[in-house]
Amino acid sequence: MTIYPPLEIPDTLAAGPGPGNTDPRVLERFCKTGVADHMQKDVLRGMAEAKEMLREVFGTKNIHTFGVGGTGFSGLDCMFSPILPGDRVVAFVNGTFSGLDGLAIRMKAATGDELAADSLNPKPAGVTIVDVPHGQSVTGDIVDDALAKHKPMWAFMAHWETGSGRVNDLQGFNDACSRHGVMGIVDVVSSLGVADFNIDDYQAVVAWASCPQKGILSLPLTYAPVSFTDQAIDLVARRGCHTYVHHPILEARHWGIVDGADGPAGYHRTHSGYAVAAFHEALRILLTHGRAQKVADYTYHEKALRQAVEAMGCTVTSNMTSLIVLNLPGKLAGSEKELVMGCRAEGFGIWTTLSEPVQIRIGILNQLTTDAITDIVSRFADAMLKMGAEFDKDAIMNGLKAYYA
Ligand SMILES: *Cc1c(COP(=O)(O)O)cnc(C)c1O
Repeated sequence: MTIYPPLEIPDTLAAGPGPGNTDPRVLERFCKTGVADHMQKDVLRGMAEAKEMLREVFGTKNIHTFGVGGTGFSGLDCMFSPILPGDRVVAFVNGTFSGLDGLAIRMKAATGDELAADSLNPKPAGVTIVDVPHGQSVTGDIVDDALAKHKPMWAFMAHWETGSGRVNDLQGFNDACSRHGVMGIVDVVSSLGVADFNIDDYQAVVAWASCPQKGILSLPLTYAPVSFTDQAIDLVARRGCHTYVHHPILEARHWGIVDGADGPAGYHRTHSGYAVAAFHEALRILLTHGRAQKVADYTYHEKALRQAVEAMGCTVTSNMTSLIVLNLPGKLAGSEKELVMGCRAEGFGIWTTLSEPVQIRIGILNQLTTDAITDIVSRFADAMLKMGAEFDKDAIMNGLKAYYA
């Protein structure tokens, strides 16, 4: 048997689609929190306060708004749990993550026979996947046409598809769901805490889920925010769902949401006081910064980065404000993986796309300062020059300086 030495992980520049750079104050809450069990009064108070702040972040009065312990896909699993085998669903896919969401939906909606026929990639008759090409957005018209044709019970879309860096049309999706009497489900993993929207403005969407590590910036594995309308909860109360741990009604109880109202918390599973304190701090930081100010900051700094990489000859195909997805100039096309691997080896954590076509992704989560963007631009310019790109780095850096002046 080997007992390994303590695990050391270096500090890198996390400049990908996520996770974002966790604020030191969040880490401080995590490690300065005392040992207390999951029913201790301050742990429960922290959960109740976090729940209220989360309603503010989502822009909702939905009573069933809380955090699901784990990563984005934990929250998404809870959000998809009201879908039962045999349900008719239309899912719009325009990149890696909506593709995985589509798989999760197919697993939920498959009957026993359909699941057994291809257990890791079931293709239930009731689920229609509408593929929108990588690099394009899901529009209201695409949603409207598909819902008119397939008349499903549920429709699903990712708000911001992080795989291709595309913003999808939430208003159009909501309006199409409303027109066709369909219950909408939306993955807001990448947009919550980066875009400014109130989920209560989209009444046809009945379930929402996000993650701890992107706009919320609370990676020390904490909570994936979710929110359900009363309509979704009433449906779950009536039909049930096939999970204990991610049950929208049972999981909410530990957050003090009982019988459709805020009330005393009851045990559901053993929450960590450390995680509660970190998540609570992340929400305080977000709301102190202010949702509208955060949006303005992301917009401002994304533009700086976009102009700089374009000046290096790259073509940007994304329209999110926390992430740039780009093609290298002609001469370097095909070298994306090599370039990214070189950067990552030096602690500059950018990414390629995870599904075809191969593109480069540079993210700015919690890098909302002139210095941080300048560092990212400088490192990326060095990496491109090393691969043989031809541009004058001083001119690029001066252009960036002029933007910020
Ligand atoms: C990151 C991401 C996910 C997955 O989140 P995890 O925290 O990795 O589980 C799902 N959907 C979208 C749109 C994402 O950006």
